[in-house]
Order: sequence, then structure tokens, then C-alpha cells
Amino acid sequence: MEILDELIFTVLTQHTSDLNAEKAFKKLKSVYPNWTDVVETGNKELEATIKHGGLANQKALRIKSILFEIHARLSNFNLDILKDMGIEDVREWLISLPGVGPKTAAVVMSFALDLPAFPVDTHVHRVSRRLGFITSKTTADNAHPIMEKLIAPTDRFKFHILLINHGRRTCKARNPLCDKCPIVTNCPSAYQE
Ligand code: SF4
Repeated sequence: MEILDELIFTVLTQHTSDLNAEKAFKKLKSVYPNWTDVVETGNKELEATIKHGGLANQKALRIKSILFEIHARLSNFNLDILKDMGIEDVREWLISLPGVGPKTAAVVMSFALDLPAFPVDTHVHRVSRRLGFITSKTTADNAHPIMEKLIAPTDRFKFHILLINHGRRTCKARNPLCDKCPIVTNCPSAYQE
């Protein structure tokens, strides 16, 4: 995915499933062939286009604000300039966009720029907490620098995918399947939830 496509898609994934976000993103791209069209469309029209992604009113405003800000900074919508920046500069650039937090920035860095960021989504946050990588009070936003310190840069992408899959299949939010968990003997939270 292009960098800006990944950024807008990640905004659409907030508080919904990837499937719903994919539907909304596909519709967005088919209705608006370029980003200028999105900026110029009415809020209600944009909301209707992305309704499959949920929270359409908030997400429509967020998407427009991000696009306005990018255009104000670059006079275009080409984020290739990020390819020539260091990892912390890229993170700062993305997080300073409206409505973009550490997770969204890390997803874009990891999936669109091949940078060793470690996105902490809801599954990664829960599993990391249960395994004791972070404390029970550590927020997902605050977990990013902690997890990045714990994991070697070359392992971050793979480990992110492993934790998501483990959270979806075994270490579920409700009723984690501890009796089927391959790391039960290493888990300080086994059979506690
Ligand atoms: S033992 Fe249970 S709580 Fe611990 S990682 Fe496995 S499924 Fe999650």
C-alpha cells in the first residue's frame, strides 16, 4: 500500500474489524479517485461513503483534518519524503498529524515504510500485559517505547504478528484458552482470567 493509503486505512480500522475497514476503504477509493476529491467533498457525503467502518462522523472529520494538514505541510499528498527520514523523525512527523497516535504511526512505519516500529493494538496490548511485558496500568500508547526497547528491531514485525495471532486464537479477551496455550508455563497470568 502507498504510505498515505496505509495511514487513511489505519484510521478506518480504529474501533472496528479489519474487514469493515477494508470495505470502507475500498468504497472510499472507488468514490474518490484522488485525495483532493476527499478534501473537497462534504462531510456528510464522506461519512456515507465510509459508513461500513463505523464511527463515520468522527473518522470523516479525522481523515479530512489529516489530509488538510498534509497538504498544508507539503502542498501535495505524496508522503515519499518520509522514506528519507530517520525512524524517530518519521514517528514525530506522523504523530503531529491530527488524530494520529503512536499505534497509527507505528502501523504506517511498520507496514508502509518497512521501519522497525512495534504497533500495540488491542490484542498486542492485552497479551503483553498478561505475559508481564508491561504492567497492568500501562496504556497501549505508553507501551510502544517499552516494547520497542524489549524487542530487537529485526524481530519487531514478526513478533507483532505473532502476538496478534496469539491474541486472536488463544489469549482471547474473554476466557483465554490457557489450557491450550503453548506458553502457559511461562505466563504469570495463566488461569487467572
Ligand atoms: S496462559 Fe492464558 S493468559 Fe497466558 S498467554 Fe496463554 S492464553 Fe494468555
